[in-house]
Amino acid sequence: MIAFVSTRAPDGPPLALSAALAQGLAPDGGLYVPQEFPRLDPGIFEETSLVGRAVRLLAPFFAGDRLEAELPAIVAAAFPFGAPLRTVSGAGRTYRFLELFHGPTAAFKDFGARFLAECLSRNLEEETTILVATSGDTGAAVAGAFHGRPGFRVVILYPDGRVSPRQAHQLGAFGGNVETFRVAGTFDDCQAMVKAAFQAPRARTGRKLASANSISLGRLLPQMTYYADAALSRAALADGQARETSFVIPTGNLGNAFAAWMARALSTANGRRLPIGGLTLATNANRMLVDYVATGEAAPAATIATLANAMDVGAPSNLERLRHFASDRAGIAAVSVNDATIAKTIARVFQETGYAICPHTACAVAAAPRDGDFDGVFVATAHPAKFDTIVTPICGPIAVPPGLAELLARDASAEPLAATPEALLDALRG
Ligand SMILES: *Cc1c(COP(=O)(O)O)cnc(C)c1O
Repeated sequence: MIAFVSTRAPDGPPLALSAALAQGLAPDGGLYVPQEFPRLDPGIFEETSLVGRAVRLLAPFFAGDRLEAELPAIVAAAFPFGAPLRTVSGAGRTYRFLELFHGPTAAFKDFGARFLAECLSRNLEEETTILVATSGDTGAAVAGAFHGRPGFRVVILYPDGRVSPRQAHQLGAFGGNVETFRVAGTFDDCQAMVKAAFQAPRARTGRKLASANSISLGRLLPQMTYYADAALSRAALADGQARETSFVIPTGNLGNAFAAWMARALSTANGRRLPIGGLTLATNANRMLVDYVATGEAAPAATIATLANAMDVGAPSNLERLRHFASDRAGIAAVSVNDATIAKTIARVFQETGYAICPHTACAVAAAPRDGDFDGVFVATAHPAKFDTIVTPICGPIAVPPGLAELLARDASAEPLAATPEALLDALRG
């Protein structure tokens, strides 16, 4: 069995995966990590589908856990949509995108949120409130994943005025077992309120709480799978030559990119690894991770609002996980991209190829070297139609994917909330 421990108590007490999933954040405020990385199952190199590869990749993390036998069903239910690689070219340039926005809420967060929901609902013991802070996309993915599931309520906090208009509509459109609060503060305020609620005694919240933020292992682990899938698919096309794929990853809280780092770190008993090469974190003007990679140190900073709002994170939580495993800078690069460059990059890619990208994906494109084509893959984290107020003036009208269209057609509402832990605790009790 793989044991999971808190980053702040590496010697234990060790928990089984299901227990770590149910806890979310460790009681000492740390994040759960595997005590040791399990071995990569060499069977993954024989698989050809996303679901098949996902099961092989995740099974060693589930070994000995009560959910072990259910993993294939969990994966099949969580990702019925794919993660296609899409090559676009024009004006003498070629770009490769890993499109992670084909889930119901049109952002990569659907992978993690739906996987977590499948895990938690198979272990449900009492009514549970999923409490989640969102910089724009997590809240909708989590609400979508738990909406209408018996035994669950969902409470979403988002920073009022700091998410795109369509994100705000989507967040408020679920109703039913989903309650949405718009907080008079930043994403970091929302995240601090959630952390405080998890540390408050049960009597103060009156509910059993569970986390679904990217601090949750149940979101992190499945995000490894599309990196494995894309890298193996490209290696298979490389005519038997060992070919590694580099990825440029739009990064905020470091959940997605940390999953890529973890997938790259795994090896079989014979030392064979997935063909994942260089990893570049593309941040917006919130540059704590860039400073960390440059100097090995970084201080949390106040959040700056940018066009790539789902990455407006001043103090990325998952840095604590990276630091836990990598005392050096972990073999990654990081580049910060400002708003003017985001807008110019959306325009450039569209003019060259006719392909519209979201502002987060634009950070990835801008972060890659520009002399000649970049041979790696840009991770496309959201559908551009979610950010129509930014993308449409540059690229013209964008067709809205069906899941998003359905939510936008519903009424939406969110309650205002002060940016204090007490306000949240009162709201939870109320
Ligand atoms: C959440 C999000 C990101 C950042 O992902 P992290 O895991 O927080 O680093 C990037 N792009 C989009 C569209 C997102 O929703």
